[in-house]
Amino acid sequence: MIWSGIEIKKDNLISVINNSIQNFGMIKNCEEYVSQCKCKCCKFDNNYIVLYPGEYEETRLNKNHIKIIDDNYYNGKKAICLRPCKEDEFKPLDCRGYPYFPKIDESDNLIILKGSKCPLKDEELANHKKRFFEIWDFFIKNKTIFEWLKKIELIGYEEINL
Ligand code: SF4
Ligand code: SF4
Repeated sequence: MIWSGIEIKKDNLISVINNSIQNFGMIKNCEEYVSQCKCKCCKFDNNYIVLYPGEYEETRLNKNHIKIIDDNYYNGKKAICLRPCKEDEFKPLDCRGYPYFPKIDESDNLIILKGSKCPLKDEELANHKKRFFEIWDFFIKNKTIFEWLKKIELIGYEEINL
């Protein structure tokens, strides 16, 4: 897979994406909604973000807005944010894909979850969703990630039809 002019392979996908400040994960329509939703996706109550195995360790971007609350969540991590991230700082894959998140069920099938806080409708997310599928279709071919996605739990999501 070629992304931003760089050949990325299954085993270096996390590193390439996390050390990039490309705009994957910036949803254009967010700008219209932020005054209404007040960036609910970045507020933490009893929820958290999840960090893929190796993601936190591999990033070279500044990450001091992140507070780890579980350092070994099936070899990944759970975290919350202490302040909004800036454009050139670490933005975890969980956030880049939001409101979508891939999950693998007990029968090894891919299911897609959508964060219930986000007011954007599927049709308003068409470009983001397309990119999300391209990236995560590639991601889940990595065995470590596939197994991790089977184990983790998220709060505030519902399954959507593909
Ligand atoms: S890393 Fe950025 S986008 Fe993700 S929850 Fe924190 S502030 Fe929000
Ligand atoms: S909740 Fe949805 S619309 Fe609001 S900032 Fe987050 S992703 Fe954008």
